[in-house]
Amino acid sequence: MLNFLNRSPNPPEETDIRSLTEKAAAIQERCDVYSRSITVILHFLKAFALDVQELQSDRFKEEIEEINERFQAPEKPKRLELQFEQRKESILDFIDRQQAYIKDRERELRDIIDLLTRAMANLNVENRDFYQRINHQGEKIIKISALDDIKKIKNALKEEVDQMRQIVQLREEQEQRQIRLLAGQVTSLQTELEKTREKAMTDALTGIYNRQALDDFMAERIERSHMSNAEFSLLMIDIDNFKQINDKFGHLIGDRVLVALAQKCRTSIRGEDFLARYGGEEFIIHLEGAGFRNALKKAQQLCNTIASVRYATSDSATDEYLSMTISIGVSQFKKGDTAADLIARADKALYDAKHKGKNCVVGRKS
Ligand code: GH3
Ligand code: MG
Ligand code: MG
Repeated sequence: MLNFLNRSPNPPEETDIRSLTEKAAAIQERCDVYSRSITVILHFLKAFALDVQELQSDRFKEEIEEINERFQAPEKPKRLELQFEQRKESILDFIDRQQAYIKDRERELRDIIDLLTRAMANLNVENRDFYQRINHQGEKIIKISALDDIKKIKNALKEEVDQMRQIVQLREEQEQRQIRLLAGQVTSLQTELEKTREKAMTDALTGIYNRQALDDFMAERIERSHMSNAEFSLLMIDIDNFKQINDKFGHLIGDRVLVALAQKCRTSIRGEDFLARYGGEEFIIHLEGAGFRNALKKAQQLCNTIASVRYATSDSATDEYLSMTISIGVSQFKKGDTAADLIARADKALYDAKHKGKNCVVGRKS
């Protein structure tokens, strides 16, 4: 009985079992904490990985997930250690690549900022308002380059580029408006120039070509004669006794006579012919495609037509009528002729016609 009373409450084996059980529970608890911590750390590692295709982040995340699963599975420690050793290399490799990637992007961003900043500095913009706005953007971009956080740089840069786009678009619109305005001005200047050119080539009284236009036309036609054998002739027309018409009816009527003759000549020629007022009461007709005989024929017809017309000197029916005659000198273009040669021959022929008694046609071959 005493023995029984003196006996310790737990036999030694029982104590060992309990202490071992307690130790095992503590170890298990530690293991659980490690296991949860490893899961959380691996989760952090996944979150740390940037979603960049180039870095194959998806594969990296899958690998992390796989390690986590192995840690949770009842693997033998030796095997687990071996597997972890193998994975460690690829995790370190990914971290290195990610850091290099970030550095590269950062460098690129800084290069872009640098480029934009220099572009701003070199902008030579006349528009003051536009220049000020661009300058302001430039200052903001320089400030961005001082930011350390890559995400902040990215967002700030995007904002600035958007604003710059707006400014550039505004400028483009302004330029388009200016271009339209200038285009309008150019068109009206061209029209103006065309009118002035026409005026410079036109005889103010009769509205037909003047001597300058004739000179230009002849020069060009003779130039063309080197390439083609097409014939052409000149009629030099002079009103007979025009001085007397002026004296009798006055200069205003004299002017109207000149206009009437120009009109008659104009309606007597074809589109490819050329009519010009050569001097006071002298006119020249270039007959395209006409040989000597045809030119003489044409001149004679014109001479007859003019002589046959009677002109009223006023609107009143009681007023006097006037009639006039013309003399015509004819020359035909020969190879080697200059414009002056051709005109001089027609002039001589005209002189002959005047001496012959006027109101007639004379041609000169040389
Ligand atoms: P001819 O038969 O020999 O040609 O004699 P003409 O009187 O016609 O020639 P002349 O050279 O003696 O006189 C030409 C006149 O033409 C003199 C000038 O006052 C006149 N005349 C020249 N230009 C104009 C013009 O634009 N208007 C008017 N009304 N007369 C003009
Ligand atoms: Mg004359
Ligand atoms: Mg005359």
